Amino acid sequence: MADDAKQPGDPALAKRLRQALRGDILFDAFSRGRYSTDASIYQIEPLGVAVPRDRDDVAAALAIAREEGVSVLPRGGGTSQCGQTVGRSLVLDCSKYMNGIVSVDAANRRAVVEPGIVLDRLNKVLRKDGLFFPVDVSTSSRATIGGMTANNSCGSRSLRYGNMVHNVRAIDAILADGTATHMGETSGNFGDDAAVPERMRDLVRRMRALHRREADEIDARIPKLLRKVGGYNIDMISDAGHNMAHLLVGSEGTLAFFNAIELDLQPIPQNRVLGICHFPTFYKAMDATQHIVKLGPAAVELIDRTMIGLSRDIAMYRPTVERFVKGEPAALLLVEFAGDDGDDNLRRLTQLGTLMGDLGFPGAVVEAIEPAFQSAVWDVRRAGLNIMMSMKGDGKPISFIEDCAVALEDLADYTDRLETIFKRHGTYGTFYAHASVGCLHVRPVINLKQDIGAKTMRAIAEEAFAMVREYKGSHSGEHGDGLVRSEFHEKMFGTRIVAAFKEVKDAFDHDGLFNPGKIVDPPKMDDRSLFRFKPGYATPDIKTVLDWSEWGGFAGAVEMCNNNGACRKSDPGVMCPSFRATADEQHLTRGRANTLRLALSGQLGTEALTSDTMRETMALCVSCKGCKRECPTGVDMARMKIEFLYHYKKRHGLTLRDRLVAYLPRYAAVASRLGGLLNLRNRLPFAAKLGEALTGLSARRKLPVWHSEPYRDLQNPPLPLRERDGVRGLLPDDASGAAPSPSHRSATGPPELLSKGLSREGRRDKCVVLLVDTFNRWFEPENARAAERVLHRAGYTVIAAPAPDNGRPLCCGRTFLAAGLVGQAREEARRTIAALKPFIENGIPIIGLEPSCLLTLRDEFTVLLPGAESAALAKHAVLFEEFVASEIAGGQFALSVSALPERAALVHGHCHQKAFNTVGAVEAALRLIPGLDVKSFDATCCGMAGAFGYEAEHYEMSMKIGELAVLPTVRAAAADTLIVAGGTSCRHQIGDGAGRQALHLARVLDRASRSAT
Ligand SMILES: Cc1cc2nc3c(=O)[nH]c(=O)nc-3n(C[C@H](O)[C@H](O)[C@H](O)COP(=O)(O)OP(=O)(O)OC[C@H]3O[C@@H](n4cnc5c(N)ncnc54)[C@H](O)[C@@H]3O)c2cc1C
Ligand code: SF4
Ligand code: SF4
Repeated sequence: MADDAKQPGDPALAKRLRQALRGDILFDAFSRGRYSTDASIYQIEPLGVAVPRDRDDVAAALAIAREEGVSVLPRGGGTSQCGQTVGRSLVLDCSKYMNGIVSVDAANRRAVVEPGIVLDRLNKVLRKDGLFFPVDVSTSSRATIGGMTANNSCGSRSLRYGNMVHNVRAIDAILADGTATHMGETSGNFGDDAAVPERMRDLVRRMRALHRREADEIDARIPKLLRKVGGYNIDMISDAGHNMAHLLVGSEGTLAFFNAIELDLQPIPQNRVLGICHFPTFYKAMDATQHIVKLGPAAVELIDRTMIGLSRDIAMYRPTVERFVKGEPAALLLVEFAGDDGDDNLRRLTQLGTLMGDLGFPGAVVEAIEPAFQSAVWDVRRAGLNIMMSMKGDGKPISFIEDCAVALEDLADYTDRLETIFKRHGTYGTFYAHASVGCLHVRPVINLKQDIGAKTMRAIAEEAFAMVREYKGSHSGEHGDGLVRSEFHEKMFGTRIVAAFKEVKDAFDHDGLFNPGKIVDPPKMDDRSLFRFKPGYATPDIKTVLDWSEWGGFAGAVEMCNNNGACRKSDPGVMCPSFRATADEQHLTRGRANTLRLALSGQLGTEALTSDTMRETMALCVSCKGCKRECPTGVDMARMKIEFLYHYKKRHGLTLRDRLVAYLPRYAAVASRLGGLLNLRNRLPFAAKLGEALTGLSARRKLPVWHSEPYRDLQNPPLPLRERDGVRGLLPDDASGAAPSPSHRSATGPPELLSKGLSREGRRDKCVVLLVDTFNRWFEPENARAAERVLHRAGYTVIAAPAPDNGRPLCCGRTFLAAGLVGQAREEARRTIAALKPFIENGIPIIGLEPSCLLTLRDEFTVLLPGAESAALAKHAVLFEEFVASEIAGGQFALSVSALPERAALVHGHCHQKAFNTVGAVEAALRLIPGLDVKSFDATCCGMAGAFGYEAEHYEMSMKIGELAVLPTVRAAAADTLIVAGGTSCRHQIGDGAGRQALHLARVLDRASRSAT
């Protein structure tokens, strides 16, 4: 197939596809750019992308491709590491629509699925039958069964369950000539069965003839290891009968398109235990593996010293690592025993301890019996590669010899020699993963932006593969061949086997319709014109408005995305709500990062960064910061969106809606006086419609209601300390939102005075600053007043931070950031930092109520105004719940509380609370209340996300995101369960979408403590 028959984006081809297919056709440059990479080092622009709805669409696309003379590249999650999912072809993405379960036969433990279904989703469905599909790849949250099948993927427990090839029973495939076939078991006399189409019989005959002819060579050259996924599985052909589907497994999209895959399922083991073996040297861990596997474990996985160190540095993993790592081991082996007999598993765990003692490491096993602890340990192991990829800078751990496999007896020597090779080339690597099957992952750190990097890669590859051959190992033990490995088939398998591979390709796909250049006829693996960072790749400096120095610039931050696809997960966690709702690559953290990278490096034409197409790419990013926490390499798209908006708005100007939202903190005091009038908009449908026409704020939404008694701390005179000391017990017995009388208010005033006074009386440690944000001040002042009362009752002196010149209240600037008005936001930051500085210098905590506002002080302020002052503020700025929880933990929170009529509380964490890990603090604070059953739930964004859900064009999407988890969960809660939500927009969304009133934690504590005082 002539790949250059068409140019990328060919309009005639796109038109034909649009006419014939029901699915999406994506031929614009931005979409092509998003599909030009997988998780490998390569980047090739496809001709275009079709997202078929069903097998009819696939058949139609293949027919058009044949007629137009273009090749086809099937695609799942695009997480391949070897470049098998990139090519100058028509990409067929099956992940969006072709992702159903066709049937489950629980009695016979079989399932038939469409290729685009993600492994975790399949296993979630199978769980109710006590079954699972056991090829547990690390990318289980986004790897599709189609991609796993075509890559012959392997999991951590392959020692027990084997690879894909051992678990796929049959495949419904469509061949290059359009023949639809069912590939499965074929008996010895298969060729005589007239009921089988001649095309199929011919294929079987040819494969068997090939096998007969090459049997000796196959026996001599194909490694006899479990972890062998290079080339086609010609060693599995047999005259006596074989499974034709096994030839398609591992074919990397080069032989046929899979429409459906039949899988063998396994019963979920009723019991698992984990022993974490500690070793003083890496060599000893490798040497011990061969003995450990004799105990019959389901998995033996390696974590080395570098990985332990990197995991300790990641907040999310630190507590787990502290629990399962004792001391400073050079390497750990995670040894799992699984089966229905719990006693037997424990017995084997004891044997493991004895064996470790015999090997010279007594007491070196940490036991994990509790399932939650085990799964936390596995989470760290699964995140291994991702953790490594969090390395900043141009030198990155590169995947090319990452999954070589050798026999266990050779493992220690092999890894030792590999390290010597790395050293000789001036680099190093980190080892981890599947020790049990001799397949360790290792990525040397190389800078592929430079020619010397590409040369180093080739030199290491040649030396490493030569060594693997010496050990009769496998150069491709897990991730497949793609562009990075296919070239080495000749050296590893010899010319006869490579000729046999070509014969297979020719028999299935004579004209080269499917995924050219993979497995057979590959290009050079170090051809830099195929790299993501091609010769001449450059990202000209743009004058950024935020500080990106931590990554060496904005482009460096964007390039942190290595396409591993973790943002495609759907459960659990937050990332990435817009993808969860759309299943579109465009609306995915990865899609956005790739688009930004291509734009910054000039690959999408001039002014791409500030184009409307880029705006569309960023439009559904709700700035939830889910990626900041959950992206393994720390891609922080919310921050990138601010940078983008700044440049975009600078070029295109602000809309009226931008201004209305951005300047809200500035005009709120005036508008509040007209609150009664403005609130009419919510009651008069025509006013809402007119409002939508004028401002773009959805008429289907009620806007936040201006409160008749806003929070007005600034109007209160400073109180002498004596009076402040006496405030406890004088508070109004009222949570209705009415303003307390001045005598009950917090102290305000010049900070020098206050701090002096406080110092004199030694009360500084019992003082806090309550920073009331725009939303809690003008719309929901009852929250601020409740917080104030709670803090007073608990014995704190609450200081309302004075604004300079007693002017408008302090502000975090978030509304400006949301409109790209970074200069204004910086101004607010400067003002806030200056006003709070004296308190910070006195060690007084700054407490906020609204997560997105307060956490701006901890997050964006540090890049708006990098330096010691913003860093100091970041250290002192805490959410109300964090303060309460830490005081409770320190035994200093003297709040008397009594039981509430409600017996349960359901906590919905705002995305930023999740990003900064504060939901646990809300739960801890609520647990002060006797008899209250407190639960939080795992969910992505509620969909409101600041102003997003109010925007007319985003209303539907906002509700769709809400319906992913938050709204149904709240609806399902018992009527007398308290719904607790820290974010003002979350409370509104819950009110609008679930018809329930959600309360801020402060109000719940206020109610519980009111009756107790
Ligand atoms: C961080 C990380 C960890 C990983 N861990 C593992 C691991 O533990 N074990 C492992 O084996 N791999 C691992 N991989 C590699 C990769 O995730 C797996 O190979 C995965 O199975 C690929 O699935 P996918 O849906 O992303 O497939 P894609 O990358 O989209 O496609 C893979 C191949 O399948 C072909 N294909 C897709 N759909 C079809 C179809 N319908 N018909 C025919 N061909 C099709 C494609 O053309 C391509 O050649 C890892 C990758 C990363 C980035
Ligand atoms: S954005 Fe993060 S999670 Fe998503 S593909 Fe890129 S690196 Fe992976
Ligand atoms: S901030 Fe949220 S919506 Fe935006 S890319 Fe990250 S996870 Fe997705």
